[in-house]
Amino acid sequence: MNLLVVDLGGSHASLALFTDGTPRASRRIELAGARGLEPLLPSLAEALGELAAGEGVSLSACAGLGFGFPGLVDAVRGRVLATNAKFSDAHALDLSRWSVESLGLPLRLENDARAALLGERAAGAARGFDDVVMMTLGTGIGGSAMMGGELLRGRHHQAGVLGGHMPVHFYGRRCTCGGVGCAEAEASTWALADLCGSWPGYERSTLAGLPTAPDYADLFRAAAQGDRVALQIRDRSLAIWGATAVALIHAYDPEVLLLGGGVMGSADAVLPVIQRHVHLHAWTPWGRVEVRAGELGDSAALHGLATLFP
Ligand SMILES: [Zn+2]
Repeated sequence: MNLLVVDLGGSHASLALFTDGTPRASRRIELAGARGLEPLLPSLAEALGELAAGEGVSLSACAGLGFGFPGLVDAVRGRVLATNAKFSDAHALDLSRWSVESLGLPLRLENDARAALLGERAAGAARGFDDVVMMTLGTGIGGSAMMGGELLRGRHHQAGVLGGHMPVHFYGRRCTCGGVGCAEAEASTWALADLCGSWPGYERSTLAGLPTAPDYADLFRAAAQGDRVALQIRDRSLAIWGATAVALIHAYDPEVLLLGGGVMGSADAVLPVIQRHVHLHAWTPWGRVEVRAGELGDSAALHGLATLFP
């Protein structure tokens, strides 16, 4: 069976063709400067058609389109419910209709973090587990939870996906969601430039001399070289991620906690610290939650989306 999938991210979209659950071809489209989702749809449809055609697969030979979206979605009705930053027009779009009219394919929509968990369970670090929490550290902090083999959805489709909006500092920074001191407002890539800029002594840090605003790879590199401010911000970020991990474990009672997202490109600096924090501070009298890095990286959500058409 052939399937097309799209994982829409903040800065780019990843497209792939899967055949019998295996990725066969993929493509990345940069979205810098994109103002909304609607203007992107024609080029997405065109690129999907080209991707299939490049493999000699006609659209009529595909079973559907899996679509991952970075926001709150109603997967049953196939509608975007809310997004707190980019693609603010998405809730008004009928993506199922667009998919049928432009590609002739039925569409299944899923939150991108839920899709990543489905992918890691199908083909990555969560194989064989039915109770899984995933925390993705990237531009923001994403989350998803599976209990008893079923994705957690909740009454309004937002259960499990707001892990990055757990308050960790109740006098903290304003978050894009309207909250105060959310984990992602205190320790994620979008918050890092502001966090660095207001840090005492930042002007003397090597980070201040970088040509662009630092990301976490820059921060970990500077910390490894002994930069004092980088060390302090690194340790604060790790403490916030550790506290968020414990909160997620207490909320959802998983066997395994997966860490994913772009920040895990620096997994050596992150994974052992979160493991230690969880094993010291999570109340799990039955034993220890396994804390693992995702295995599929950027393609986890694509693999998950390919499971939406059984
Ligand atoms: Zn928030």
